[in-house]
Amino acid sequence: MSTFRLRWWPTPPAVLAYGVAILSVTAALALALLLEAWVQSAPTVSLFLCAIMFVAWYGGLGPSVLAVVLATVYFTLFMVEPTGAVAVDGHDVPRIVLFILTTVFVILLSAAQQRNAQELVRVNKALLAEVAQRRRVEAYLDEAQALSRTGSFGWTPASNDLFFSKECQRLLELDLDQRPSFDDILARVHADDRPMVHAVRERSDAGQPDHDYEIRWRALAGTTKILHVRAHRVRLQSGEEELVVAVMDVTAARRAQEALHATEVALTHAARVATLGEMSASIAHEVNQPLAAIVTNGAAGARWLDRQPPDLGEVRSAIERMIRDAQRASEVVQRLRALARKAPVERQPIDLNEVVGDSIAFLQREIQTRRIVLKSELRPGLPPVVADRIELQQVVINLMVNGMQAMERVSDRPRLLLVRTSSETGSEAGQAVLAVQDSGIGLDSASLTRLFNPFFTTRPAGLGLGLSICRSIVESHGGRIWASTNEGPGATFQVALPLSTERIA
Ligand code: ADP
Repeated sequence: MSTFRLRWWPTPPAVLAYGVAILSVTAALALALLLEAWVQSAPTVSLFLCAIMFVAWYGGLGPSVLAVVLATVYFTLFMVEPTGAVAVDGHDVPRIVLFILTTVFVILLSAAQQRNAQELVRVNKALLAEVAQRRRVEAYLDEAQALSRTGSFGWTPASNDLFFSKECQRLLELDLDQRPSFDDILARVHADDRPMVHAVRERSDAGQPDHDYEIRWRALAGTTKILHVRAHRVRLQSGEEELVVAVMDVTAARRAQEALHATEVALTHAARVATLGEMSASIAHEVNQPLAAIVTNGAAGARWLDRQPPDLGEVRSAIERMIRDAQRASEVVQRLRALARKAPVERQPIDLNEVVGDSIAFLQREIQTRRIVLKSELRPGLPPVVADRIELQQVVINLMVNGMQAMERVSDRPRLLLVRTSSETGSEAGQAVLAVQDSGIGLDSASLTRLFNPFFTTRPAGLGLGLSICRSIVESHGGRIWASTNEGPGATFQVALPLSTERIA
């Protein structure tokens, strides 16, 4: 029954619907009789049809069937046989049948029309719900994009059509009324980054589906934004290819990273200078020794010259010794200057054994005064590692100084410091490994987990930054640093660094 009624029309109670059916048809009859009496002509069939159509629309199938039956009875009783007699003449039968057929046809027509109207209302409602849902999703998406500072746009290369999300429009500061094209967009990219965008486009045209890169974007205020761009190529249902691009403003993050890096560099340098400060006594001695030797050899040379005749051979060898000592002093100063210098980090293939050798030479005096037995096992022909020489030297010196400090209070056994280099096979394949092993106080399990944390120290005068700086240097070189306790007394610190595929220049 419900299919015969419009949804927005409240379903009338059954009694009312049937009542309306009887009333409507009776009213149509009454009107027909009145018109017949007054003007001797009444559109009887039309009036009944109107009543039936109204009932079908208002009450549905049941009441409309009742209306048809009632109208047929009225029609037969009052219209076909105005006398009110029940008997029906044979020649009236076709009129009555035609009347019944017409009313049934009207009911069916009305039902079909109502079904259509009802379907229309249903489709309309579903459409409105869909639109509301889409608007909500769109609003969420806009909000999420604004919160994450990520805009998006779609680009159809074939038609050069561009569609921008609200956040993207805001982020790129675009005037969409001007209908920006791909070239307009490109013009806002920093000139140095444009070749990269062209290269990405070429790779995309060649079929590469995913792209991930960063560009500098010229903001309208004249400043530069750093944008992280991720693009994915999709095929639309229409068969057209479209590039879906997400654009994220990472300016603040990059600036913070740069500031952090600058702080790290400054801290690393400060720690290096602090190490030099700690060793100033040995450094002074290191420079002083050749200088004193130069003075002694100079005096000896002068005495050989004063001889009659002057012994020029002895003078020559005294001068040669002076030159050698001056070179030694100059080397010490050069090593010092290199460590104290605040030079930009420079990565190149270098020989790890050479760096270890330099570090040992630098710490020679310290090793002697602390009565350390130094052993070095450097693997000959070790392939180079790509590193900044000074930073790597800082790591080696730090680990050696820590080892020596850990043996400060050792008096019942030799203070053994072993420096070893090797190139690894197995899981560490393709890596050079440096190990610094001491026979000092060793490490307890609590220290082992915190050693590399900034400000962890057990030394009264310690800062606790050395090992954390070592870790950041090693990790920035793509390497790994770790500590372990020895089977005997002491600890071993190891550094693994990737081997270079290049040869040392
Ligand atoms: P600091 O030397 O200023 O304390 P480090 O970061 O170099 O800072 O070292 C942190 C701590 O790690 C040291 O205080 C010490 O407790 C421990 N440590 C470092 N090297 C060794 C070692 N070879 N043996 C034992 N403990 C060590």
